[in-house]
Amino acid sequence: MPMPQHIRQDKPGCAARCGDEHAGARLSRSHGGGAVWGVSVPVIIAGPCAVESAAQIEAVASRLKELGIRVLRGGAFKARTAADSFQGLREEGVNLLAQAGRKFGMLTISEVLDCRHAEFVAERVDILQVGSRNMYNYELLKELAKTGKPVFLKRSFMATLDEFTHAAEYLLKGRGEAALCERGIRTFEAATRNTLDIMAVPIMKERLGLPVFVDVSHSTGRAALVVPAAKAAIAVGADGIMVEVHPQPANALSDKYQQLSIEQFTELLEVL
Ligand code: PEP
Ligand code: MN
Repeated sequence: MPMPQHIRQDKPGCAARCGDEHAGARLSRSHGGGAVWGVSVPVIIAGPCAVESAAQIEAVASRLKELGIRVLRGGAFKARTAADSFQGLREEGVNLLAQAGRKFGMLTISEVLDCRHAEFVAERVDILQVGSRNMYNYELLKELAKTGKPVFLKRSFMATLDEFTHAAEYLLKGRGEAALCERGIRTFEAATRNTLDIMAVPIMKERLGLPVFVDVSHSTGRAALVVPAAKAAIAVGADGIMVEVHPQPANALSDKYQQLSIEQFTELLEVL
């Protein structure tokens, strides 16, 4: 089966894996606060669930960069369901992610959990993530819109698409630039961590004209389901995917069952 052009043109080590030849230029404009999302092919946002150490984030960033990935994720302020779970390295994690982004020439994205951290994160990373648990935190949305940084808004796991739309409007009312992310919702089905609502992609694209991504890791909860979820996302016209990649998933401090190893991630790129 012929591979899509954005994959076919690249071999590991080439620069354009996640975009067309102009994508790099468009993406890199975000360093000045401009457009991040204006690419014509799917953007792949990849990196670990959480930044765990300098060695961990640099190991994964260097391999992702070789594979042509331009946007590096890494959670620093982590929203964990259990209070005794790893909560992230917080400010140190943000600094380590920013350092890895600079070292390997990648854009960075990390979650802002609270208004109190907005300025700190906005000064250091390129794209501000609003997590599923915070989609309804309208004060946070307003605060992030004020920073002028692009905001990556994840759908609450219990939000209707109307509620998701209204949350996005808070960002658009500010001077924010935004992208949306379907990350699965809670249903009666327990076979996956969340239920990927794939129709959210075309519906949200039509409603707001914003780029819509699919988080293929949190929507499935299992590494083995990431490939089919990613294929579905691309098939319905997602502007990109977010995928968790860890140098050693079995030793990850969070979400170990859904994070891909570099080898698994390489296979994902080959079949997309
Ligand atoms: C994440 O992407 O790090 C995350 C916690 O996802 P979500 O907010 O969708 O659960
Ligand atoms: Mn995670």
